[in-house]
Amino acid sequence: MRVASGLSPTELLELTDAGAASDSAERGLLLLAAARPDLSADALEGFGLGARDAWVMDLRCATFGDELSGRVACPACATSLAVAISRDEIGLEPGEQGAAVPVWVELDGTVVEARTPDGSALLAAAAQPDVEAARRSLIASCVVQASAASGAIAPLDLPAAVLEAVGEAILAADPGAEVGVPLDCAVCAHRWTPVLDPVLFFWAELHAAGTQLLDDVHQLAAGYGWSEPEVLRLSASRRRRYVDRLLDV
Ligand SMILES: [Zn+2]
Repeated sequence: MRVASGLSPTELLELTDAGAASDSAERGLLLLAAARPDLSADALEGFGLGARDAWVMDLRCATFGDELSGRVACPACATSLAVAISRDEIGLEPGEQGAAVPVWVELDGTVVEARTPDGSALLAAAAQPDVEAARRSLIASCVVQASAASGAIAPLDLPAAVLEAVGEAILAADPGAEVGVPLDCAVCAHRWTPVLDPVLFFWAELHAAGTQLLDDVHQLAAGYGWSEPEVLRLSASRRRRYVDRLLDV
C-alpha cells in the first residue's frame, strides 16, 4: 500500500500553517495523518517510529519525487557537499505493521519489558521543558515493567547500562526508527553515516515550497489580480511561466 497522491499546493500550505508552531513529534503526526487520512487520530498515535517515517517518506516522494537532494557538511573537513540519494537507498517501505513492538532485555539479573516508542510517547516527551525531562518521559513511556531478584524496579531507577541496552534493543526492534545514509566525502574521502530524519527533512522542504508558493501568489495577485485559490489551481510549470512574464525573465 502506498499513499494515493502527493500533497496539492493547497494541502501543502494548510499543512505548513497547521504545524508552524509545532514540535517535531507533532509535525510527524501531521505528516502521518496526511499520508494516512483513512486512519483515526488514536490509530496514528499508535504508530511506531519506523512505520511513521516510512509513510512520511512515501508522502514526501509522492509530492516531490523519488530523489532526495540537499547539502551536508563533512564532519572531517567541513566541506559542504551536495548530496542526492534515491528513495531506494533509504529503504523505508511503508507496511501495515504500524504498532509499537515489544522488547525484552535481560542484563545483570535485571529483566526489562519495554516497547518501541509510538507517536503518543514522542508527543509526551516533546512536551517536557528540557532534554533531561524528555529523556525521563520517554523511558517511562517505553519501559512497561522491570524487575530484579530484589523485586520490581521503577523505570527511572534502572541502572544506566540497562537503559542503554534497552535503547539498543528498541533500535534493533524498529530499525526504521533510525535511518542512516552512508556518504563519502568527495574532498577528503572521509566515510560516515549521517542519520536522516524524514520528518525534519520533509518539513524543511515543505516550508521552502510553501514560501515559494506564497511568493508566486503575491506576484500573480499583484500582477493579474488573481485570487489565491486561482493561483494555486495552476500547474507548477504554468505558475512559473506567468511569474517569469511578470518579472520579465
Ligand atoms: Zn571531507
